[in-house]
Amino acid sequence: MEELMEGPKGILLVGDGLGDRPVAELGSRTPLEAAEKPNMDRLAAEGECGIMDPIAPGVRAGSDTSHLALLGYDPYECYTGRGPFEAAGIGMDVKQGDVAFRCNFTTVNDDMVVTDRRAGRITEGTEQLAAAVNGMQIEDVTCLFKESVAHRGALVLRGPGLGANITDTDPHVEGAHVHEAKPVDPNDAASAKTARIVNQFVKKSYEALKDHAVNKAREASGQKPANIILPRGAGLAPSLTPINERFGLTSACVAETGLIKGVAKYVGMKIIDVPEATGGLDSNLIAMAKAIIETLKDHNFVLCNVKGPDVAGHDAKAQVKVDFIQIMDEMVGYLLDNVDENTYIALTADHSTPISVKDHSGDPVPIAFWGPGVRTDKVMHFDERSVTSGGLHRIRGCYIMNILTQLMAIQEKFGA
Ligand code: ZN
Ligand code: ZN
Repeated sequence: MEELMEGPKGILLVGDGLGDRPVAELGSRTPLEAAEKPNMDRLAAEGECGIMDPIAPGVRAGSDTSHLALLGYDPYECYTGRGPFEAAGIGMDVKQGDVAFRCNFTTVNDDMVVTDRRAGRITEGTEQLAAAVNGMQIEDVTCLFKESVAHRGALVLRGPGLGANITDTDPHVEGAHVHEAKPVDPNDAASAKTARIVNQFVKKSYEALKDHAVNKAREASGQKPANIILPRGAGLAPSLTPINERFGLTSACVAETGLIKGVAKYVGMKIIDVPEATGGLDSNLIAMAKAIIETLKDHNFVLCNVKGPDVAGHDAKAQVKVDFIQIMDEMVGYLLDNVDENTYIALTADHSTPISVKDHSGDPVPIAFWGPGVRTDKVMHFDERSVTSGGLHRIRGCYIMNILTQLMAIQEKFGA
C-alpha cells in the first residue's frame, strides 16, 4: 500500500483523434460543435483555452509520436519507428540500444512465398509458438520475442552495435516472396548488422515453427500454419529521461491501446489496466474515470487516452463520433465531480481524425486547462473554433507539461 499523496494533482485527458473539420451531415459543424457536452463546456468556460498543434503546425501526427510530444519529448529526436513502443506496450522490457519490431505470424509455402500474412488470423497457440523462438542467440545478439493479440507479436534484438535503418522482410502482400532485409544506406554498418540478424531470425523462425505441434494441429484441422515470423517497422530504442525525474511527478497512465501504454511505459509511467476499457466504441469510460480518481490517491499525475473518437473518425461515422463525444462528456463530468479541490485537468486531443479524411490530419486540436487559479478567458465551449479566442491562443503539444506543472506549482524555477 503506497502512502496517500497530498498536494496538487494533474490529469491530462486525451480524446484520441477528437479534433475534426466541419461535416456537411452535421450542418457544417464539427462533431465537437454538434455534440451536447455540458461538462466539457463547463471545463472550457471555467478554464483557459486555446488551439494546439500536437507536434507542429500542419504535421500529421501518429498517436505514438503525438503522445511523446504531449509528454514533453521531441519525437524528431527520440522516434525512429513504432517497434520499441509497441514492444513496451505488450509488457516487454525494452532497453536503450535495442532494436524492436512489430511482427506478424504469417503462413508461407515451401518456396517462402507468403500465402496468408496473418496466418489465418490465428488466435490460439501463439504463446507456445513464441516460446519456440524467444531467447534465440544469433551472433552476439539475443532475440526476444513475445506474442501480442491474434497474429501479432514483437521482436526485440539486444546486442552491441545495432542500427534500425533497414527495409522490411514483410512483403505486405500475399503471393510475394519473403523479402530480405537490407540496410537503407549500404555504408551503415550498424543497420547492415541488424538486417543480417533479422534475416537469420526469419529463417530460424521458419525452421522452429514449420513442424511445431501447434501448427501440425492447425494443419490437421484445415487451418493455415503460423510457420514464420515477419518483423517490420524497426525502431532503435531511445534513451529517455524518465518523466517523473524530468517533471517531479509520480505518474501513471490509464489507456486502452498497447501503443499508448507502450509510450507511457517507455517514459517510466505506471500502467493502470482497466479491464472494461476495450479501446472500442463500447468502452466503459466511467470505469476509466474511476480508475483515474483511484490512481490519484497515490500519484500526482495521470495521463488518460480515450480511443473511441479516433475509431469513429477512421470509420467516417459522424453521428457515431458525436454520440461517443457525449459519452466522453459524462466521463469528464465524473472527473469534475470527484477530483480534489487542488486538481488540474488538461483536456485535449492527440490529433484530428476528421470524418472527411478517415485518417489523421494536420489540423490543430482544442485544449483547455481547468483548476484553481487558472486565468479564465471568454471561451464558453470546448470545440475547434470556440477555443481559438482563448487565452492560450495557439500552442504546441510540447508545452503541455510545462503549463501543467507550473499550475501545479511543482516546477523548478529556471534562473534566479
Ligand atoms: Zn491518436
Ligand atoms: Zn488513428
